[in-house]
Amino acid sequence: PYDVLIVGGGPAGAAAAVYAARKGIRTGVVAERFGGQVLDTMAIENFISVKETDGPKFAAALEQHVQAYDVDIMNLQQATELVPGKLTEIKLANGGSLKARTVILATGARWREINVPGERQYRNNGVAYCPHCDGPLFKGKRVAVIGGGNSGVEAAIDLAGLVKHVTLIEYGSALRADAVLQRKLNSMPNVTIITSAQTTEINGDGKKVSSLTYQDRADKEIHTIELEGVFVQIGLVPNTEWLKGGAVALSKHGEIEIDARGQTSVPGVFAAGDCTTVPYKQIVISAGDGAKAALSAFDHLIRTSVS
Ligand code: FAD
Repeated sequence: PYDVLIVGGGPAGAAAAVYAARKGIRTGVVAERFGGQVLDTMAIENFISVKETDGPKFAAALEQHVQAYDVDIMNLQQATELVPGKLTEIKLANGGSLKARTVILATGARWREINVPGERQYRNNGVAYCPHCDGPLFKGKRVAVIGGGNSGVEAAIDLAGLVKHVTLIEYGSALRADAVLQRKLNSMPNVTIITSAQTTEINGDGKKVSSLTYQDRADKEIHTIELEGVFVQIGLVPNTEWLKGGAVALSKHGEIEIDARGQTSVPGVFAAGDCTTVPYKQIVISAGDGAKAALSAFDHLIRTSVS
């Protein structure tokens, strides 16, 4: 069996692998797609000490760093079930199964898409999902935020301080964010709020976004807003469907519940990064939490008898 088996090969999983391997213990990583979300990222400008890089470069560096140690990387393998026990078992979609004394879950998350024409085409060329990551790219420009829940309204407030103008678009007849956030948003001079609006298309010139089209759900009229950016804020979905109905406790949003050491509800099973309840989903945070989970796993190993 592995001493530490990590499920997920994004920043959290890679950091966990480096920290575990440096303890000289038997370490494995199973990942559907080694690199994780950063593979879909263009500019990364907020990983401290790296002023600027891009996603594919960052992902390659993650893999090189892990490969510098004695770690079994099992890429393109999907975990489908976790079976707790003296040894934790991870079942794979290919029919195989792996056993480990400790497991670190680092399966990340994905942004919910609005699924309209132009969204995929202009992703990273005007269509964005993370205001902390991409907000500064739109300095002095006009943007829309789609989604009037807490994350959408927080994004609109954040962006209003950076960009020229923000249009917040909500599908329902009223915003769903906390009242205190709505009051703050309403106080900002460069924000327009449009409710009962169904986004139907993100338009561009073939290279980048130039406008957004929506239908007024009350009078059915079609409107077009000229802008340079669209932030989609309709939810971040943790990749934990495979754990549902199992022993690992999940929050109502499907996030793996962890304590300050990355411990889950199952002894010997730890978790880190975007798939957990930790607030603020960012590379530097996921990497830090991956390191923390690996140290916690090591601590668990030295306190449990090996038979
Ligand atoms: P992920 O990166 O999501 O990695 C999850 C890993 O688990 C992957 O290897 C995946 O294949 C694997 N996996 C999932 N399910 C299974 C399964 N069942 N079995 C096996 N493996 C599985 N953050 C920043 O800090 N700065 C930025 O500039 C930035 N820009 C971003 C731009 C975009 C377009 C996106 C999408 C995100 C951006 N982020 C940015 C957020 C950042 O990418 C994430 O916070 C970070 O990647 C989370 O790391 P993670 O390791 O927790 O999860």
